[in-house]
Amino acid sequence: MKVFKDLPLRDFSRFRIGGPARQIVLAESREELLSALEPSALVFGEGTNVLFPDEGLEKKVIFFQGGEFHLDGQWVVSDAGVNLQAIVKGSLEQGLGGLEDLAGIPGTLGGAIYGNAGAFGTQIGDLVREVEVWKEGRLLRLKSPWFGYRDSIFKREGGVILRAWLKLRRAKGREKEIAEERLRLRREKHPPPQTPCAGSFFKNVVLPDGRKIPAGKLLEEVGAKGMRIGGAGVFPGHANFIINLGKAKAEDVLRLANILKEKVRERFGIELEEEVIVVRDP
Ligand SMILES: Cc1cc2nc3c(=O)[nH]c(=O)nc-3n(C[C@H](O)[C@H](O)[C@H](O)COP(=O)(O)OP(=O)(O)OC[C@H]3O[C@@H](n4cnc5c(N)ncnc54)[C@H](O)[C@@H]3O)c2cc1C
Repeated sequence: MKVFKDLPLRDFSRFRIGGPARQIVLAESREELLSALEPSALVFGEGTNVLFPDEGLEKKVIFFQGGEFHLDGQWVVSDAGVNLQAIVKGSLEQGLGGLEDLAGIPGTLGGAIYGNAGAFGTQIGDLVREVEVWKEGRLLRLKSPWFGYRDSIFKREGGVILRAWLKLRRAKGREKEIAEERLRLRREKHPPPQTPCAGSFFKNVVLPDGRKIPAGKLLEEVGAKGMRIGGAGVFPGHANFIINLGKAKAEDVLRLANILKEKVRERFGIELEEEVIVVRDP
């Protein structure tokens, strides 16, 4: 376990934004996480989906990055701190299918379960059968937890995800190719790997009949591509990515996001909702 005092949260965030935290703990196993946990602590994974505040955080901040996973028949049993891509690759190598659409999504399994991460029609929640959770000092096992679009019972009701059981299936044959194809599409459409950002900034819009309108399409139509405020800009190649052009502050990102929301509201009467987790000291 590593403990840091007064380090900037930007050092732990893919967006490279965020002021100092009084105490940051890097927990590299389930046991380290359990020994660091306290009810008021804030727990993150690899910080790939978060915007930390410029003024920093007073509370203890824990990053759970590491732990173990194993495959048992068609089951994945994994600590929440394991990198999702390690699980995707490991399962494909063992001839298992189910996770191929998620190839290339950065971050940990815990972060993916919290936000029900997904791509190309698959969401991690489709595969999660059981989750071990820490809640106010108690360990619980939740069977078939609730998931919605980029939403979960953990997002709604709290709880620290410690471990999960995922049920995969025997591969039918093309899964490795599908994973390669997904990675290729990401390389084509997303900002280059080193670009500081937190993935798609807004959720896609779900219509009452269940169809989705990509937020990127609406944003493109209001001329978002290339717009900038301070150090934050909209990625010219994909209108739903806000990127840190160098020295962006959380305030720049939020101001830009508000302008984008306003433009979409005025033009289409649609209220965009953030997919990125905007962290505040409550
Ligand atoms: C280039 C890029 C592409 C991306 N593409 C996609 C995509 O295609 N689809 C998609 O869904 N997302 C995508 N994302 C967003 C991000 O990768 C996912 O949301 C990822 O699952 C977040 O994992 P993390 O470990 O980084 O979580 P963090 O960013 O560290 O945390 C995110 C949230 O999860 C909570 N959390 C994390 N771990 C735990 C835990 N153990 N227990 C309880 N809560 C926890 C945190 O409190 C926080 O609220 C992308 C991001 C980037 C930068």
